[in-house]
Amino acid sequence: MFKISQFLFIFFPAICLANAEVDLLKRLVMIESGSKQIDKVNEVQAILKSELTRLGFTTKQIAPPDGIKTGDLLVSTLKGASQQTITFLVHADTVFEPSSGFSGFNISSDGSIAKGPGVIDDKGGMVVLIFGLQEYLKTGIPKYTLKVVSSPSEEIGSPGFEEQFQAFSKDSILVLGFEPSLDNKNIISSRKGNAWFQIDVEGRETHAGRAHKEGINACVELAEKITQISKLTNYQKNTTVNVGHIEGGQDKYNIVCGNASAKIDTRFETLEEQGLIKRKISEILKSPQVYSVNDHVPSKITFNISSESPPFAKGPHNRYLIKYIAAVEAAEGKSIGDEQSGGSADSNSFSRKDLPIIDGLGPSGGKMHTKDELIYLPSLQTRSRALTLFLKGL
Ligand SMILES: [Zn+2]
Repeated sequence: MFKISQFLFIFFPAICLANAEVDLLKRLVMIESGSKQIDKVNEVQAILKSELTRLGFTTKQIAPPDGIKTGDLLVSTLKGASQQTITFLVHADTVFEPSSGFSGFNISSDGSIAKGPGVIDDKGGMVVLIFGLQEYLKTGIPKYTLKVVSSPSEEIGSPGFEEQFQAFSKDSILVLGFEPSLDNKNIISSRKGNAWFQIDVEGRETHAGRAHKEGINACVELAEKITQISKLTNYQKNTTVNVGHIEGGQDKYNIVCGNASAKIDTRFETLEEQGLIKRKISEILKSPQVYSVNDHVPSKITFNISSESPPFAKGPHNRYLIKYIAAVEAAEGKSIGDEQSGGSADSNSFSRKDLPIIDGLGPSGGKMHTKDELIYLPSLQTRSRALTLFLKGL
């Protein structure tokens, strides 16, 4: 049967979109929830909580650990026929603090585009998720248990919630992220991971002329090590190592360099490569090569990983990916694809071996993280319809 609402949507999308989805999006965007605006972030979480409670979810709020100043993590669960859990990811914060000067919610004159802080990233994603679930839940008790995880601080890496995310990951059979789709409307089937290494070398400062043999040259040691480490780049595997910064010694010619440090960025596509690169770098740094000639004391090398995000790969979940692409195509009547995204997101933190993850399932638009961030309003309906179709087809 051809419904009147479908007729209106095809011929008068602008009229049709003066509706519940846009109203909710506007309410969310008008709350200026930059990651540091704790009260505003919690206000967004409260709206999500009331929407999900209306759909039958039970919710709990988890405060960040002491010393971390963000809003609360919101975790909402709806028991399904099976204990097996599908986890949905959204976030309540935006990159726009009040100092950005970007605020408001403005719709273009033809009604097809809206602009505002977080309009696709990630408030549009929240709207897609809520309406997609609402339609799906009209069919009765869900087949799987559904869990919605909403971060208060995704844009700054969700600090303090890494262990929670790994615990939720262990309970999930599938993770679906509602970050915006890519600019060409494709969805995200993999994200690279990264690890940042801070390396410090301690040597011994001496007079370069009178006591050269007693010195331990930290600059030379660092140079030896970063030369070896940078050779770990492997373009075939899409693994890269970048020496981003080095410093060392005093601004003098005649003092043996007493300390040196480097910042190194590594990126990889698989959990195996992540493990491999970490093992190889610690192996290289384990044994110093520079000693003082006089007493054979070696340089002292220490390192730490200052930030780390695991990758998720496309491999094991083609079955779900193919279904989701088909659902988007059915909802939009156009073909779309999937690709890797360079950026990392909360979905990276859920990565574990053989867990299927798909991201970029939110609305389409563009210019995210800029003051021109925009959403194609019809995609609110088509992407939530795609979610409903996907869940019904499981
Ligand atoms: Zn986002």
